[in-house]
Amino acid sequence: MLVMSRTALIRDRVRLCAIILSALMLLWIPIDLALLGSETASGILAARGVAAAFLIILIFLRPPKTHAVFGKLYFALLLSIPMVFFCYANLQLAGLEWTPQNIFIKSAYAHFPVLVVMLLCLFPLTVLECVLFGGLLVFFTYFSALNTATPAAMLLELGTIWIMCVVTAIAAVSSVSQLHFMSKFVDFTTHDEMTGCLRRDYGESLLETIFDMSQRRKAPLSLLFIDLDDFKKVNDNFGHDEGDRVLAAAGEALKKTLRKQDIVIRWGGEEFLLVLSDTTLDGLAHFFPRLQKDGIGKRPDGVEQTASCGAAEYLEDGITTIRELVELADKRMFAAKAKGKNRVVMKNADFSFLTEFKHK
Ligand code: GH3
Ligand code: MG
Ligand code: MG
Repeated sequence: MLVMSRTALIRDRVRLCAIILSALMLLWIPIDLALLGSETASGILAARGVAAAFLIILIFLRPPKTHAVFGKLYFALLLSIPMVFFCYANLQLAGLEWTPQNIFIKSAYAHFPVLVVMLLCLFPLTVLECVLFGGLLVFFTYFSALNTATPAAMLLELGTIWIMCVVTAIAAVSSVSQLHFMSKFVDFTTHDEMTGCLRRDYGESLLETIFDMSQRRKAPLSLLFIDLDDFKKVNDNFGHDEGDRVLAAAGEALKKTLRKQDIVIRWGGEEFLLVLSDTTLDGLAHFFPRLQKDGIGKRPDGVEQTASCGAAEYLEDGITTIRELVELADKRMFAAKAKGKNRVVMKNADFSFLTEFKHK
């Protein structure tokens, strides 16, 4: 989720920056015409037109937000277009004499890469990415200066390079804090604060994707619908805060039993949906002993908290949609309640949820 949000944000900001840069490229034309001789101006004008055209093309390119690498290449493209223009303009300006008018335009062009490196501040990047992109821009600037600058101009370029290094350091702070804020925000929008499980709205969209992928691979996918037993009594006897604590412990315990590829969604108040990829109903034989070993936490009076669970697997249960699969698991959870709670019900089988503990 973080990767997708970051890629989407990078993509949108690249497009915004491309709009601004292409406008600036064109708006500067009257200044070139006013201050440069017609020969130099016409060479730079053509390059400005080409750079603006490439930037406009960039606005219409839309890399998918699911591909982080494309997002970074897209960003690299944004930085490289003005830098190629800068190298070309430097070549054109190299022969100009140092008249007061030319000093203004030479200095304006010499500082152009600072504007480009400042763009790093607008993107959520890691320190490494900032150093890499900033370093490449500095290298480009130095390389261009080596090929074109006189000793006096070289001093101007070295000043620019120093400012670019400082801006890269500032950009690293800004970019990393954006990334940090983003990761907190994504965490907040995808995870339930009390239990640490996935929020239902996000979990449901993820569940649809996981189901589609399993169907395409013809791989099994099991759902466990879990509802804590007699939870109202916990609230009534020990208070809502204690109830919250029991709920948080149950969520934590369920998460602990899962493998990396599995997810747990807080479906409702004290209901959880466990999504176990590549797991058949027989395969659940590996899951329940793990859960039963540690339990799902204790009530404030020390009694083990139990739950009722409905299990369903789409291939074995002959289900074709995710909605039906959730409904079947939910229905079996109610069957587990009807059988006396602290039970697991699945196709042709039912057994204790926590074997060593009687439901109270
Ligand atoms: P059953 O065994 O039949 O499931 O009985 P139950 O008491 O658990 O009944 P039910 O599932 O209908 O009730 C759930 C209770 O969970 C009702 C609600 O007050 C409580 N609850 C829901 N969300 C929260 C929460 O975030 N914190 C606390 N403390 N209680 C919650
Ligand atoms: Mg309930
Ligand atoms: Mg309940």
